[in-house]
Amino acid sequence: MINNNQELSERDLRERIAMHGKSIYDRGLTAGSSGNISVRLPDGFLVTPTNSCLGRLDPDRISKIDALGNLVSGDKPSKEAFLHHSVYRVRDDSNSIVHLHSTHSVAVSVIADIDPSDVLPAITAYYVMRVGRLPLVPYFAPGDLELAAAVEAMAKESHSLLLANHGPVVAGKSLDAAVYATEELEETAKLYLMLRNLPIKVLTDDQREDLKRR
Ligand code: ZN
Repeated sequence: MINNNQELSERDLRERIAMHGKSIYDRGLTAGSSGNISVRLPDGFLVTPTNSCLGRLDPDRISKIDALGNLVSGDKPSKEAFLHHSVYRVRDDSNSIVHLHSTHSVAVSVIADIDPSDVLPAITAYYVMRVGRLPLVPYFAPGDLELAAAVEAMAKESHSLLLANHGPVVAGKSLDAAVYATEELEETAKLYLMLRNLPIKVLTDDQREDLKRR
């Protein structure tokens, strides 16, 4: 895994966004023109364009945004670029963000009796290590500025967020880390739905603490 976007040129990062986008789309992890991916640059960030399909991204047309949120080059950015900006503002350790409308994660986000402070149980060690705590961000209409404020406040505490009735926003130290954590979240959401009516054993607090120490 490449841990630092700064080791890659902007060209490499553009190509890797398109490569991951195609892989995500081809496996049905987001549909149509939904979902967006970004990577932090020294002077702003790259983000996938509005109305673009993650399966057919042109690396040259990926939007480049400056530190103030203005478009520098490429196509018009995703209307959800503000989500990425909100997370980067408060997470110095995060260099990439993935936001999808992945089916099982969205399904979990609408269940009435989930715990909004930590949506999914610790089913596997990899979920605990890659996703950790998953708070639920209350529902706001797309583009509502209150959504940006809520995401910014909650991203201070957790690199993984689930937007109610919408989908996950996951930040990572690198593009690879953000993608893999988002995939782990989606698989865990799927497991959770499969297991929902069965008595299950989840990792204990001691087991979770042990994973944090490793
Ligand atoms: Zn969205």
